[in-house]
Amino acid sequence: MEKRHTAIITGSTSGIGLGIAKALARSDMNIVLNGLAKDDDAAKAVAEVQKLTKGKVVFNGADMTKPKEIADLVQSTEKEFGAVDVLVNNAGIQHVSKIEEFPIEKWDAIIAINLTSAFHTIRAALPGMKKRGFGRIINIASAHGLVASPYKSAYVAAKHGILGLTKTVALETAEDGITINAICPGYVETPLVEGQIADTARERGMTEDEVKENVILKAQPTKEFVSVEEVADIALFLTTPSARSITGTSISVDGGWTAQ
Ligand code: NAD
Repeated sequence: MEKRHTAIITGSTSGIGLGIAKALARSDMNIVLNGLAKDDDAAKAVAEVQKLTKGKVVFNGADMTKPKEIADLVQSTEKEFGAVDVLVNNAGIQHVSKIEEFPIEKWDAIIAINLTSAFHTIRAALPGMKKRGFGRIINIASAHGLVASPYKSAYVAAKHGILGLTKTVALETAEDGITINAICPGYVETPLVEGQIADTARERGMTEDEVKENVILKAQPTKEFVSVEEVADIALFLTTPSARSITGTSISVDGGWTAQ
């Protein structure tokens, strides 16, 4: 039997991260869940994902703003399972505000969680991946990694940054059996977007329904939200042998948003 792979998915207690964890679990990987969750919610997520895999599912609550906790997440996974084969950098937060009024601590948190945490996970995971000659790294960027929207300076900067990081690491690992790619989803209805709808409504003086219709679905030509499962299936594909030659690129799942 082929060796069972082990995957870390940061920010996987809800939304897209949890969806990716479930998709990878269905291919029987060991799964390390992560996120800022209450004990009960973390236990619920572990139980949900455990039902889907013959591997083992654990939770690690490393805070993606803390470099030492991030390094420990990778090291403790290698210690428990012998490897980190798949690394999904998904944890992310959003804040919507004019740049002149953008709270400095929100800028710092968004850059730390949405961009710098991926530097720390990759830095810690690559030596083991190189030694074993195998690794699949998937960065969850966004349509906002390719284009901008007003009032999202930190998020757009972080997501553009992660595409640059993806390309650079691809060049550094191209001969090592490692691939690294980004997925750029359009709007997916998750807790992150629900918060953003409320913030945008306040910022632009609109109702939440007006924001959904005139801001969100306006950006997305299909006029439909992308589903968590659609993003998760792309992540799963990137871990398969068929995706061996895909590296250093980004895959848009945005209902035509960035074609405009
Ligand atoms: P979500 O709020 O449902 O999930 C975010 C996850 O990140 C949660 O598990 C949360 O606990 C975790 N997290 C937040 N801060 C953390 C920290 N300091 N340390 C560890 N974990 C932390 O949001 P989502 O929509 O599923 O977003 C997941 C990723 O997808 C983000 O990177 C987001 O930018 C990206 N994305 C989302 C959309 C969308 O429309 N929802 C579109 C494009 C990209």
